[in-house]
Formats: sequence, C-alpha cells, structure tokens
Amino acid sequence: MNKCVFFDKDGTLNSVIRRHNKITGPWNMSEFSPFSDVKDSLSILKNEGYYLLIVSNQPDYYDGYLRLNDLNAMDQWYRAHGIDDSFYAFDRYSKYYKPMNGMIEFFIQKYHIDRTKSFMVGDSWKDMAAGRDSSLHTIQIGITAVEENDMLKYKPNYQCNYLTEVTNYILERKEIHNV
Ligand SMILES: [Mg+2]
Repeated sequence: MNKCVFFDKDGTLNSVIRRHNKITGPWNMSEFSPFSDVKDSLSILKNEGYYLLIVSNQPDYYDGYLRLNDLNAMDQWYRAHGIDDSFYAFDRYSKYYKPMNGMIEFFIQKYHIDRTKSFMVGDSWKDMAAGRDSSLHTIQIGITAVEENDMLKYKPNYQCNYLTEVTNYILERKEIHNV
C-alpha cells in the first residue's frame, strides 16, 4: 500500500485570478502563478515517499474559457516539480467533480493508496468534503469569507495558510503513524 497527498490546484498550489465578476483559476501560462513554497513542499513530500496527485475541478474548460493546451502546460509544470499524476474534472454533474470524491477514489484504486496514511489538501469546502468522504486526513489552506459557513459543515482536520505548514503537519503525522 502507498501513501499519498492529494492536492487541489487553484488556490492551493497556485494563485486564483480575480476577474470582474468571479474568482477563477488561471486560463493560460501568463496568469499561472504557483505559490512560492510549492517547489520545496513538493520536493520534501516526495522525498518522504508520498505519491503526489492533483485532483482539480476545471469547469472553465467546459465553459470554453480555458483551452486544453493551456491546462496541459500548467500540468507539465507541476509534473516537472514532483506531481506524479493528475485528474481534472470538467463536468459539474459528473461523479468526479468535487465535492463528489470520484477523482480521489479513482487514484486510490490506481495506486493502491492507504487512506489512513494519506491527505487531501485544498482551499475549498468541496475539497474537504471529497477528502472526508474518502476517509483521508483533510487539510484546509487559506479561507475565504464566502466559504466560512460551508467550512463549518466540513471542518478539516487541520487548517493553515501556507504549504510549508501543510508539509510540517504531514511530517509530524507521519511520525505519529510510525510510533
Ligand atoms: Mg481551489
């Protein structure tokens, strides 16, 4: 059995974009801005033997704002920095689209993941709901006022502001498991 860290993408690994009427993920490489501690965090977790997997809703592809080659370019950047595999859900009504946990379950089967040693990291209540439904440890990074009420329903196991804190929490948990 393998251990793994699942990551949401937008708002978790890279900045979101504030447009006039909504907040979205980046639509191309010029808008793509990974957080400054992403490289180190992925590298540390990789060295600890975790599979690193992205599970991300990308409705903007479905809606025609995001092109597949732009999403691929961002995905290639993450793979060059330690991400092993990724799953992008486009259709809001599919079983893969968070808060449904289809993407996570797909990877748990594919990589024989041990849920008790694995984590879901995300910025939204949808990430926490999907992670909880797959019996993962849930880590919520950042918080938006809009989501505070929803977050109360899907209280994560741990809450913080930076990926370095996520990494430290996971390393500490690892030691707990090893005792
Ligand atoms: Mg997000």
